[in-house]
Amino acid sequence: MSEPFVSNDPATKADQEKEKPKKFQTLRGFQDLLPADHDLYTLIKKSVRHRGRQSGFRRITTPTMEETGVFERGLGESTDVVSKEMFTMESRSGKLMTLKPEATAGIVRAYIEHGMQTLPQPVQLYSIEPQFRYDRPQKGRYRQFHQYDFEVLGERDPSIDAQIIHMSWKILQDLGIEDRLDIQINTLGTPIVRKKYTEALKDFFYDKKQHLSADSQKRLETNPLRILDSKDEDDQILVSMAPKMKDFMDEESTKFYEAVKSYLKELKVPFYENESLVRGLDYYCDTVFEVWDRSLGSQNAVGGGGRYDGLGTVLGSPNPIPAFGCAFGVERVMGHMKDSGIETPNKDGVQVFVAQLGEEAKKKAIKIATELRDMGIHAVGGMGKSSMKAQLKMADKRNAPWAIILGEVEVREEIAILRNMKLGKQHKVEMKDLYKEILSLVGKENLDTYSLGE
Ligand code: AMP
Repeated sequence: MSEPFVSNDPATKADQEKEKPKKFQTLRGFQDLLPADHDLYTLIKKSVRHRGRQSGFRRITTPTMEETGVFERGLGESTDVVSKEMFTMESRSGKLMTLKPEATAGIVRAYIEHGMQTLPQPVQLYSIEPQFRYDRPQKGRYRQFHQYDFEVLGERDPSIDAQIIHMSWKILQDLGIEDRLDIQINTLGTPIVRKKYTEALKDFFYDKKQHLSADSQKRLETNPLRILDSKDEDDQILVSMAPKMKDFMDEESTKFYEAVKSYLKELKVPFYENESLVRGLDYYCDTVFEVWDRSLGSQNAVGGGGRYDGLGTVLGSPNPIPAFGCAFGVERVMGHMKDSGIETPNKDGVQVFVAQLGEEAKKKAIKIATELRDMGIHAVGGMGKSSMKAQLKMADKRNAPWAIILGEVEVREEIAILRNMKLGKQHKVEMKDLYKEILSLVGKENLDTYSLGE
């Protein structure tokens, strides 16, 4: 008999090495959301949907990718997001397309594109979507992350601003993390006031330019308001001497801001006024707010938003679209939930494991498992070719409280063995009584049933 051929030829070995499949990993700044993360994410989505629906919101999903101009024009070319953080690529026909870095611009584009101004105003929309920013990855800062987002379009009323801030706070309360967070609010005044104030800041900083940090020197050219929230200590000293927004506020801006604050007080929403809060994006006016980590301050804010009455026209609407919106980072909210040890109900657990031996028993096992599922019981089994012992071990590992055991004999005699996995005790049950007994063991209140109409 000839020996199997094993080559020692170095060239062939190298070829074999080359063919060894590469082990892939997630890209830098991207991460998998594993089942344990989804336990938290599910709670977040539930609260967002529940609170949103209670307040009259409906869900929208805009495409993951838009023409680059939607964000460039919508967010402002001088913003960090547009100038440094966009994932932009060219289509085969040379069109520039960008993965969405935030939700608002796409939603406003959709509002205009679908003629939503003809609907009763305001239009209230929410979304829960992945977002993409070419950020330097670190804890709480990823290149793909998720946001939940609320937008109220087509109405200018301070009560909207206050109600959305209140609802955002409610969600954080639902999730049990509000005592780790603070709400910061400020006003940027109407677009006219914002413009006047920006000019005054430019004048003030112009002859002090050399004392500003390199970043703020750039901001002076592109977006002077952003100097106000610089973290640089020397910038901060100059900022403390700079003109104050409150001295530029006109009657309309003041009235609007006072109303927002009085509604927030009425709704018992705790907040801090913060004159340096400006938010990164160009499109904000009047109310801006952020929710900060109480111990870290502005770093790793969990969310924020504001009024953006000017964005609609920037994105091509013939009429202004007054609007208010906010976005919260799911991963950062999840981080707080993890750190504060929030217990999540695990609704994925297996309730009944169906173990079987032999072809006939396997057929029966699959049928039983599917019928149990129809009744609302989490049933697993009939998979793989392991021995009975190995299957029961698996039932144990999956923490199933009950196992149904079927062999050829049981199938022939129309019985099943029902095993209490914790006690290791088992007894025979007539097949016709099996479902009734299992139902009473699992308990009606633990059934996982739903109807599409719910
Ligand atoms: P922004 O509109 O930039 O303030 O973003 C709103 C929220 O999204 C932030 O408060 C964060 O919670 C979240 N967020 C923004 N950028 C990132 C990122 N790169 N990674 C994770 N979360 C982010």
